[in-house]
Amino acid sequence: MTPYSRQLISEEDIDEVVAVLRSDLITQGPKVAQFEQAIVAECGSNYALATINGSTALHLACLALGVSAGDLVWVSAVSFVASANCARYCGAVVDFIDINPNDGLLCIESLSSKLQYASKHGKLPKVLIVVHLAGQSCAMKEIAQLCRKYGIAIIEDAAHALGSSYLGRPVGSCEYSDICVFSFHPVKPITSAEGGMLTMNNQQLFQSAKLYANHGIERNSDLFELEVEGDWHYEQQALGYNYRMSDLHAALGWSQLKRLHQWRKARKKWVEYYRSALSESNISPLFAHDHGESTHHLFVILTKDNALRNELFRQLRGAGFSVNLHYIPIFLHPYYRLQGYDIADFQGAMNYYRHALSLPLFADMDQAVADRVLELSLAIAG
Ligand SMILES: *Cc1c(COP(=O)(O)O)cnc(C)c1O
Repeated sequence: MTPYSRQLISEEDIDEVVAVLRSDLITQGPKVAQFEQAIVAECGSNYALATINGSTALHLACLALGVSAGDLVWVSAVSFVASANCARYCGAVVDFIDINPNDGLLCIESLSSKLQYASKHGKLPKVLIVVHLAGQSCAMKEIAQLCRKYGIAIIEDAAHALGSSYLGRPVGSCEYSDICVFSFHPVKPITSAEGGMLTMNNQQLFQSAKLYANHGIERNSDLFELEVEGDWHYEQQALGYNYRMSDLHAALGWSQLKRLHQWRKARKKWVEYYRSALSESNISPLFAHDHGESTHHLFVILTKDNALRNELFRQLRGAGFSVNLHYIPIFLHPYYRLQGYDIADFQGAMNYYRHALSLPLFADMDQAVADRVLELSLAIAG
């Protein structure tokens, strides 16, 4: 099976991980800080905090922003379930914002009208979680303008978007958000096997996220609440978790990060190849905004109707291409459906869901794979 995305591991990556294995510190050694600093340099944020995966990074982001029982958190309707689960872990009530079916991104008009309604009825959310689907940044400036009016915090779920930019700055700079979250799962732009990262500019948010990632334990004497009786002193100040990344994972992530933009450029070439081959057809790639450069995590196409998408999915899978659908709208999952969302409120998400399909895309893809995928796609849905 040819996957829709996959990792590339070099001898150098292997050497980096082996070097950690041969060292004294395999968990909390120097590699985590080195990886965090490399992400700070890549993204232009003030802080970065490594975690064990993207899902825990999202949970920490919610905790640091003070999300707790009874709070309301709004989430982009089409994403991996982790984008919404993080708020549920904190006991928050989740509601969804519709997307534009042509780009898969949060719909500004839906956000704006939902805010007006919520403001009138005293139901404003504490946090909005936006998703840079397929690697393309949402219109963060407009989203931030709308949310700032009401004091709503913003988390960017950038699991797909390491290496992307928006208005001339890297995604992760948090110019228009409070916290940005990355994932380093093997299908993502770089991998640390399992791994995640938060970036942010606010020192208090950073300290809070770090506290929650370390059992709620504070070791910085400037921040102690109790009187110190000896050098053994540390104190648990909140109920936290053990969400720390290990040095083994950090070594792999740090090594991979060096090839991020080389891979982005390679994927971009394939995206351009796909786009030009599909330009005269009935198949539409997601709309590409000129407000930034995408890292091209996924190549999502939209077919003319649902039956064609289903047939294309079947035939491509049958031909050995592990195409996929990113994603089932979160509110359709049984766990969320039970909470009574009205599908009629999410026409954009349902429209996207019926027509979308992710074609294989990775840096070292063969010409033969791209050509065969295109040939089948054009024959079936073109
Ligand atoms: C992969 C992914 C996550 C979760 O990341 P993990 O590292 O797998 O926990 C969250 N949100 C989106 C959009 C993702 O694609």
